[in-house]
Amino acid sequence: MRGPSPLQIFYGGTFDPIHDGHLAIACAARDELGADIRLMPAADPPHRPAPGADAGQRAEMVALAIAGIDGLVLDRRELQRADAQPQMPSYSIDTLRQIRHEVGPRVPIALLIGADSLIGLPDWREWRALFDLTHFVVAPRPGSPLDGELRPPLQQQLDGRWLGSPTALLASAAGGVYRLHQPLQPESASEVRRRIAAGQGWEQLLPAAVAAYIRQHRLYLTSAQS
Ligand code: ATP
Repeated sequence: MRGPSPLQIFYGGTFDPIHDGHLAIACAARDELGADIRLMPAADPPHRPAPGADAGQRAEMVALAIAGIDGLVLDRRELQRADAQPQMPSYSIDTLRQIRHEVGPRVPIALLIGADSLIGLPDWREWRALFDLTHFVVAPRPGSPLDGELRPPLQQQLDGRWLGSPTALLASAAGGVYRLHQPLQPESASEVRRRIAAGQGWEQLLPAAVAAYIRQHRLYLTSAQS
């Protein structure tokens, strides 16, 4: 059993659907950083139908996937905000401001993301301001090298932020970047959706309870949903 850690780790994503790659990363981060991981499904974008499963279904699948796994927790805050403000798009910067407001200025917060998400960070709303609010914990991902071909503004932003050990995440409330030491996980949600629509084997890519939910609700059967 882990003792309580002051570090709060949030793992946001569409989770459409959650798969074994997500769980492997969450468990690796939990074990390496010694803190609970809060999985935070994104809300549906306003003004258009959900692309695959809707937000409620995606959150239910996350709950099924983490049931009985120590240290993984479902955080519904983005869905709750969307329920309260259905016309407003949901941005990570707003979520992080809400979390920072709740925990205060000194508690260390980290956002767990895959390397592909880190590479796309300059496209996020107010992306530079995120570093004032949170640390980043980055999971390597096949095809998304962490070093090398980063866009210059991102490279500049990351310079001097890389942390050598997990304990360094506790030394400040935000602003560091830590690379997770875990094997590369090949799974992706788009591959799961593609395989379901194509009638190829997919159940082995995610937990059995999530596979049963997908079959029961007949999700992802057409490629238009991918
Ligand atoms: P899609 O294939 O539709 O892009 P996804 O599998 O990347 O979906 P998301 O919900 O978009 O799933 O991912 C949530 C977060 O998990 C992102 O930060 C993403 O980079 C990361 N992630 C997902 N799968 C992996 C993986 N296999 N290895 C490393 N990071 C991953």
